[in-house]
Amino acid sequence: MAVERTLSIIKPDATNRNLTGAINAMFEAGGLRIVGQKRIKMTLGQAQKFYEIHKDKGFFAELTEFMSSAPVVVQVLEGENAVSRNREIMGDTNPDNAKEGTVRKKYALNIGENSVHGSDTLENAKKEVAFFFKDEEIVG
Ligand code: GDP
Repeated sequence: MAVERTLSIIKPDATNRNLTGAINAMFEAGGLRIVGQKRIKMTLGQAQKFYEIHKDKGFFAELTEFMSSAPVVVQVLEGENAVSRNREIMGDTNPDNAKEGTVRKKYALNIGENSVHGSDTLENAKKEVAFFFKDEEIVG
């Protein structure tokens, strides 16, 4: 077991519905600590850069317009195996396939507006945390 940090984003569909606290409570109940957090509004350019890996996908324009449409809460979650633990707490990308008790099962509207982002590997987590946070903004 290793203590890791992962990047989480509470997406516009969730901030629009005032769900930041409810989702944070699920992270904390699941054993993760919120060691960095800020509410920002991404520009379209920032969203395009963040999701560059998906630039050839059919949903890229929809995804980046959605992510820059309203405020998001970017956060650093810390805990044992935080990357995979957070993916378990989030649930499947498509809420129809997400397990009971997961954030996406409870709150996601559809496969695009699915309430949360979480890094998929430790390597990507490091890059994604650095995309939004300076070292001094993370207090463990
Ligand atoms: P994640 O790691 O579970 O977030 O999933 P992916 O890395 O596969 O996709 C990134 C994000 O793109 C998802 O969280 C969705 O917001 C969006 N997305 C993925 N697949 C689709 C799709 O088929 N349609 C739409 N509109 N958005 C999608």
